[in-house]
Amino acid sequence: MTHSMVIVGAGIGGLALALLLARAGRSSQVIEARHDPSLGDSRRSINLALSERGRRTLDEIGLTPRLAPHLIAMYGRTRHDVNGGVARFAYDLAGARALHSLRRDALMTQLLDAARDNPRIDLRLGETVATVDLDARRLVCRSRSGRRTLGYDLLIGADGAGSRVGAAIDDQRGEPAPRQALDHGYKEVTLSARDAWRLGLELNALHVWPREDYMAIALPCSDGQFAATLFLPHRARAGVPGFDALARRSDTEAFLATAFPDIAREAPHVAAELHEAPAAPILCRLARHWTDRAGHALVIGDAAHAMAPFLGQGMNCALEDCRLLAALLADAAPADAPAALARFAIDRRPDAAAICRLSADNYGEMRRGIAAPAFARRRALEGRLQTALPDRFVPRYAMIAFTTLPYASLADRADRQEALIDDHLARHPDDAHGAADDGTTGAPLTRALHDALAPLPPAALAPPAAAPITNQPPTLSRAAGPSYTDYLALDTILAAQRPLTDEPTEVAFITLHQAIEMMFALVIRELALLTGPTPPPAHRWPDRLDNATALFQVSTRHFGLIKRLVPRPAFHRFRDALTPASGLQSLQFRQIEFMCAKACDLAAPSVVGDATKPALDPTNHLTGAPNGDPTGDPAGNRATGATAHAAVRGCYWHRATQGSDTLAAFDTQHGPMLAAFAARYAERNLSWRYDRLDPAERRHVAGALGRFDRQVNQAWRKAHLALVRAFLSDPASGPAPHAPRPDAGSPVPSTAGLDWDRYLTEHAQGLRFFPQVPYATAA
Ligand SMILES: Cc1cc2nc3c(=O)[nH]c(=O)nc-3n(C[C@H](O)[C@H](O)[C@H](O)COP(=O)(O)OP(=O)(O)OC[C@H]3O[C@@H](n4cnc5c(N)ncnc54)[C@H](O)[C@@H]3O)c2cc1C
Repeated sequence: MTHSMVIVGAGIGGLALALLLARAGRSSQVIEARHDPSLGDSRRSINLALSERGRRTLDEIGLTPRLAPHLIAMYGRTRHDVNGGVARFAYDLAGARALHSLRRDALMTQLLDAARDNPRIDLRLGETVATVDLDARRLVCRSRSGRRTLGYDLLIGADGAGSRVGAAIDDQRGEPAPRQALDHGYKEVTLSARDAWRLGLELNALHVWPREDYMAIALPCSDGQFAATLFLPHRARAGVPGFDALARRSDTEAFLATAFPDIAREAPHVAAELHEAPAAPILCRLARHWTDRAGHALVIGDAAHAMAPFLGQGMNCALEDCRLLAALLADAAPADAPAALARFAIDRRPDAAAICRLSADNYGEMRRGIAAPAFARRRALEGRLQTALPDRFVPRYAMIAFTTLPYASLADRADRQEALIDDHLARHPDDAHGAADDGTTGAPLTRALHDALAPLPPAALAPPAAAPITNQPPTLSRAAGPSYTDYLALDTILAAQRPLTDEPTEVAFITLHQAIEMMFALVIRELALLTGPTPPPAHRWPDRLDNATALFQVSTRHFGLIKRLVPRPAFHRFRDALTPASGLQSLQFRQIEFMCAKACDLAAPSVVGDATKPALDPTNHLTGAPNGDPTGDPAGNRATGATAHAAVRGCYWHRATQGSDTLAAFDTQHGPMLAAFAARYAERNLSWRYDRLDPAERRHVAGALGRFDRQVNQAWRKAHLALVRAFLSDPASGPAPHAPRPDAGSPVPSTAGLDWDRYLTEHAQGLRFFPQVPYATAA
């Protein structure tokens, strides 16, 4: 068998590339040795620092919103000295730009889910590529079920630092690049949220304990824990500890007490964990040749450039590889694909070489440099230079982390600007704090930099494409536990309203909307108890359903509050800033619908105002079984990815908003996830489970189902529509439901081309989650 595009390795790079190619309409087969690559292993860090390059790729794949709950903004480095002193250094002088700490398993889970849901990706887990024959363009793969041989037109080796594809290229080309293991290794441990409280670690920072010859770092996790890493030489030498000298637990305890007394004191359990953890090697390798001779095989990511982790760029660089390569392949005809691979390798290798060098060099700065008194002075000087030369001067680290400038050119630029600064400081050592804006001593440096550096491309200076994902730092105390304010995360919640305009009522609009979404989150919790994998007994239903109904009553009342606190003219002063947002983007409401109703009932032609139901598979209850028909045997009709996508596309809101930018944005961000959700609840939703109750049980639950259905589909939708009309329709006449499109649509068009008056109509109030339930008799 032959597949035109084979990717070896479903790590970060392999999956991201497959998803990008799928977006460009290209299919691939992804082969992964591990059965579940989302599970960690001791050779991979728990957390990763995500910077602009990686973020761009994840944005393009549409994954960032789904990762948002797992991302913690890190606005700078916090240095912890051995004597307990603490110093903070913002990454960005305006304090606006942040790296994001991300759990590797969360990223892998999202990538895997997206790949599984994508019909263009054929994901083969638990299969190892054992042999790569580049001349015959053939692979031999081994799995539990045996061996198979697979031909390919294009082969991408995204198989990490020990790449099998890379080894085959090396063999063919005869110039293998050596793999270097640094003489320092690392061990990882977890600091609990309680440890972090005791140590006074603020959440929104990368913490560094520099100790000259070694160091520890800690990155925050979304659950309040910190993933801490100790980098230490493998072998001790005169005066410098090493992992080999920490053979006994008592050695580790003594080492911690001396080198990291704060950790030894506040988190004493770390010694035992550190003792148990294996010391992992740091492997670096820059492949000499990235393609085979014929140009049908290429390595990317760690397979091409495994680098030291001290700039946090390995994953970011791999993700940027994917974006650049996918763009080249998208533009290339199949016959030109080998030329595209060659182009990629030629253009990208100098950048990889630069970031490999910079990463290795940064170890020195982290363990030594940031502890030196000169570091703070130099940072202050750089800050002033950046203010004085905003279009020219960006410090080295900021260029790496917050721009997508090619690594090689930024390295060259950074070398030149640092040489000028070094020279200036050599001549004016006391001028470190005022050089740039001081008219006498500072001007020469500013002018020299101005003359030496061409202006940066505006795109490199622009703020990040998407708004930063922020988490406000919680108030920290050194008490043993959190205060009530901390427990409720009040600082976070109360800082989570970020208006886009100066209109004062916008905060009320945001807050009340947030409150509604919080209510939905609780509704989903209630429904989850009824729709979990094991069906609960019928007598448990009414209580849960009435809880959900009560929550919907509260959120229904919130619409009145929004109307009261945000007058229509005020709303129009900030609504344009919301484009392309829309209520459609409330993913939670869509989830509630799939937890309650069969997809065939969500097709609701009467709501859409056209009589044509989508073409549905009549044998599959997910899309088309008649209401209340419990007879079809679903066992042979399990929801497939394709039927689940059809179910989403068939929903009333999807058909009614066809062609809008809002729907396109919603589909990109949430489509695959929602389809997976629909598939998961196809044989668990309440309507489906109701059909399987016996008659007495059905009578018992019917009243509560009716109350919930009426509250959501009548009262809530009515209040929602009234609010939208109050904000968006012509106050004099209001739009006619089902007004002909496009120009006779709503007098005040909704955001992003969403024809809201086709989607939000009185007809929607006719939708029923449980149309088969005899409410009248059960009330
Ligand atoms: C301690 C540490 C901290 C780090 N911190 C950061 C950070 O903060 N930020 C950052 O950007 N980067 C960081 N990195 C680097 C980052 O982890 C890697 O650069 C990234 O994982 C590379 O992704 P990849 O997809 O190229 O390779 P991998 O993640 O190694 O994936 C390769 C995949 O290929 C599979 N595979 C291998 N051989 C075969 C085969 N023969 N057949 C089938 N499948 C195969 C493997 O099972 C694996 O799933 C860190 C690395 C370390 C070690």
